[in-house]
Amino acid sequence: MPYKDAEKKKVYNKIYRMVHLDKLRAHDKAYGKIYREQSEVKERNKERGRVREQRPDVMAKRKAYRQTLECKEYQRIYHNQPDIKERARDRDLQRNYGITLEIFNSILAGQGGVCAICGTSDWMDKGPVVDHDHDSGVLRGILCGRCNTALGLLRHRPGVLKAGAAYLERT
Ligand SMILES: [Zn+2]
Repeated sequence: MPYKDAEKKKVYNKIYRMVHLDKLRAHDKAYGKIYREQSEVKERNKERGRVREQRPDVMAKRKAYRQTLECKEYQRIYHNQPDIKERARDRDLQRNYGITLEIFNSILAGQGGVCAICGTSDWMDKGPVVDHDHDSGVLRGILCGRCNTALGLLRHRPGVLKAGAAYLERT
């Protein structure tokens, strides 16, 4: 550790973690589980849980830190890293739709990399959206944000959509 100054040390640690993220993550993947299962480590983690319950002052300090610009900037940079973004996306997909990012990508590739309804590949800000039947949970396909919103506005009723098409074609 090159610094005795606590502030400098903190900054150094952060930069170190960012620069060596891949290496640290690979290490954690290889040893993290083994490490966390050691009894003294388990005990220490339990101790940390107790801090949450019994030390409101410590928690307040941490909360205050999270409000600082420094912390927000660090978080912004951290979450903007492509692999971190990808991991978050994978986690969201698994949680919300029960599919991995890999499966999502293969479904999208299967429909030609475009919206299953209008055929656009212009995903706008939102990106491609998973469309699923809310009742059965069945995944219907991947849509652009506009088509997905349109289906919702027309209450997912094929009859209404067909009537809308007929109405447009009348003139
Ligand atoms: Zn579309």
